[in-house]
Parts: sequence; C-alpha cells; structure tokens
Amino acid sequence: MIDLRSDTVTRPTAGMREVMYSAEVGDDVYGEDPTINRLQSLVSEMIGMQAALFVSSGTQSNLLALLGHCERGDEYIAGQDAHTYRYEGGGAAILGSIQPQPMEFNSNGELDLERVSQLIKPLDNHFARTRLLCLENTQGGKVLALNYLQQASDLATQKGLKLHLDGARVFNAAVSQNVDVAEITQYVDSVSICLSKGLGAPVGSVLCGDKELIDTARRWRKVLGGGMRQAGILAAAGIYALQHNVSRLESDHHNASILGAALGKIKALTVHSVDTNMVMFAPESGDFTSLGNYLRTKDILISGGRLVTHLDISEEQIQQVAAAFAAFYKKR
Ligand SMILES: *Cc1c(COP(=O)(O)O)cnc(C)c1O
Repeated sequence: MIDLRSDTVTRPTAGMREVMYSAEVGDDVYGEDPTINRLQSLVSEMIGMQAALFVSSGTQSNLLALLGHCERGDEYIAGQDAHTYRYEGGGAAILGSIQPQPMEFNSNGELDLERVSQLIKPLDNHFARTRLLCLENTQGGKVLALNYLQQASDLATQKGLKLHLDGARVFNAAVSQNVDVAEITQYVDSVSICLSKGLGAPVGSVLCGDKELIDTARRWRKVLGGGMRQAGILAAAGIYALQHNVSRLESDHHNASILGAALGKIKALTVHSVDTNMVMFAPESGDFTSLGNYLRTKDILISGGRLVTHLDISEEQIQQVAAAFAAFYKKR
C-alpha cells in the first residue's frame, strides 16, 4: 500500500527498533529514566529552551501548554482550523476551564495580527482574560515566515500574552527554510513537537519551554494520567528520529513538490502550492469518494484532499501515484 493519508503511518525502521531494544531505562516518574532525560536534554538544546518534557502525544503536549500558560477563566486565541482548537476534543475547556477564541487562518497559515489585537479582551470583569496566542507551524503544510513570527512575538510581548507554537511539524518548516529549528522557536514561549509524524518515531511528542512552565506541565501530565515509567524504550526511538530523520525531510518535500506539479497538470483539479510534505488539492467535482475508491484499487490510500509524503514513500511510488491520478481523470 502507498499510504498518503498522513505522515503518522510510518513504521519504525530496523535501526530504530534496535536502539529501542537496547535502551537504558528507569522510572521516569522519579525522573530516573536516563534515555528520557537524554531525549529531553537533546530537544531543549536543539530548540534553544531551558527545559523539555516527553509526553505521549501532540494533543497531550498542546493541552499541557494550555494548562501551563492559562488558568480557569483565561482564554487563548487560535485558528478556526488549528489543531489546538478544532482537533483536540475541547480538552482545554473540559479539563482547564480555558475558553478558546478562534479566528480564521489566512491562506498562508498566519493569524492576522491586527485581528488578533482586536480580539484581545480588555481587562474587565465581563470578559475572560486573554492570556495566550497559539500559532501552528507548519499549518496545513505551509511554513510561517520568520519575520511574521517576529511580529507575532512583538505583539504578544506588547499585549502581555504568551506565545505557544504547535510545532508538530516544525522540523519540516526548518528544513524547508534551511534554518536551524532554534531560529524559528526563538520567537515563542513554548513549542510542542511531534516525534511520531515525519520524524518516524512510533510514539511521542515533546513540549519545550522555560523551567517553570515545564515543571507545571510535568505536574499536569501526572494529573492527566500521563506519567510514564520505563518509557525510555520510546524515547530511544525519538532520539534516533532526531539524529537520523531530520535532514531527510528534504526528500519528502521533494516528493511532495513532484506530486504537486504532476497533479497541477490535471485540469479537473485545483492544487495548492507545496511548501513541505503536503499536497492540498480539490477536484472540481468535489467528489473524493470515486477517486479514493479508484486509487484503492491501485493500492494507494488517500484521505480527502490532503496527500502527505513521508519516509515510507519513495520517489518511484510518487510517480505511480501521479500516473494513477492521471489515469483516473483521463477516463472521465
Ligand atoms: C498531529 C498533530 C498534533 C497532535 O498530535 P497527536 O500525537 O496526533 O496527538 C498537533 N498539532 C498538529 C498540527 C498535528 O498535525
């Protein structure tokens, strides 16, 4: 199967499984798992922040950031389609009594900063207290410009907000911009990164921030039932992913751009420009079902109008996918 539904579908390679097998472990609730401690130091160093916390998922990592930055009755501003608002089951409201203030993303994945300014509520007993701005990078595969991050950071400072980055795919952004990831994360107070997307680990995310935030997040992680014991076997996969699978994201981006260009030649499709490892497209007919069914007969899996390249997809398979799309649309 050529599975383009997401970059979450990657399977650990033999090399990754080997380091998992031989990982040194201890009880992480006591802070005694050496491999987890090594992962957390590695990530905080790469990201350029004081501290880091290994957690089970990106959803948990974002929730811990929200719980760390906001208190009951506080509010965060996020995109309508942001993972932190739309795709996390309302966790911040359920578990933190934190209110979201959603707003539309611009087509480039930015939140318009003038609009953000307008949405920040004045200090007044009628209103929730606006405490946090959440950005996402990459957002739908799009990379946020560094000067935009600078402006967002300036606004947050000026208005007394914290700035959290849902950086599930921030390494894709860094590779695409050819910068050190710390050049991106220098503008934010906290960042959540996913090891289990394009980086190819089976499980895990890391939340980074200052020591105070991470101490708070560690407490909330325990409260949520997220304290793990000998999870160094998972952290070992994360270390391996960071050491072996960052620069290779370039080839996922290359494959996505080849696929985007090929689909762009099909008249029945609208295809968006490709920044990283996602090709966003829409059929004129709006019909994904017959396309999906046809592709399945060619051993290709898709999910709606988003095709995601990753380390289990080769350039040769991309050519097969392009050919299958062309064949499908030729027939109609
Ligand atoms: C996948 C993803 C997450 C959450 O990660 P899970 O590990 O699936 O909980 C958060 N934000 C974005 C942008 C994501 O793509």
